[in-house]
Amino acid sequence: MKYLILLILVYVAVSFVRRAVRGGHKQEQEKGARPPESMVKCSYCGVNQPISESLLVDGRYYCCENHQREAGVRRAR
Ligand SMILES: [Zn+2]
Repeated sequence: MKYLILLILVYVAVSFVRRAVRGGHKQEQEKGARPPESMVKCSYCGVNQPISESLLVDGRYYCCENHQREAGVRRAR
């Protein structure tokens, strides 16, 4: 009987610690989560994408290097 009570106490303690650890992880994830990124439009094809993934050239955003180059060629003509 003594062991049974001890076992229950250990089980409760373990589940309590597990919950505390999980809660801590959740808080960390929320803290580490980035704020929603602003979307920008490619000046060449008009596709919307996160600002961090686009190229900024002469105040215009491009979805890829290819479109940035194409737009530059177009403007030069
Ligand atoms: Zn594009």
